[in-house]
Amino acid sequence: MTESTATVATRKVVHIHFTLKNAQGEVIDSSQNSGPLPYLHGAHNLVPGLERELEGRSVGDQFRVTISPEEGYGAHNGQAPEGVPREQFEGLDEILPGMMFEARTADGQPFPVWVAQVTDDLIFVDANHPLAGETLDFSVEVVSVRDATAEEIEHGHVHLEGDPAHA
Ligand code: ZN
Repeated sequence: MTESTATVATRKVVHIHFTLKNAQGEVIDSSQNSGPLPYLHGAHNLVPGLERELEGRSVGDQFRVTISPEEGYGAHNGQAPEGVPREQFEGLDEILPGMMFEARTADGQPFPVWVAQVTDDLIFVDANHPLAGETLDFSVEVVSVRDATAEEIEHGHVHLEGDPAHA
């Protein structure tokens, strides 16, 4: 049944071309240079609003969708980035703005933080994703759809050919 395998659904590996613009119409990200983006549908690899919009699409479909911050990278919590002494990042050669780290709450719950700014002594980290609070304007084309392997489903992400981590 070629028809069913070509439709975006849970446990399918999907390749998409996309262009992401912010509300001002500026291009923030695009697959044009890197090639189509692969993701595992139903595994929260994409922001919720985009994954929902892709559900049931077919190869060759093109669409444009506007996604609220709540269905995108979350609302901004209003808090400014916090400076952390560089010593707490020991063992890392280079720390650059945009890098993501896992921090822990006082009771040990992990949560992501993003590097906002780097000085000689301090790394400023932000609990807001760099695109938190942004309304997202996606233009998308579905390039290919295939069944995920059992291992991909177990891991919750796509395995690329020749990926040594999963040989
Ligand atoms: Zn894996």
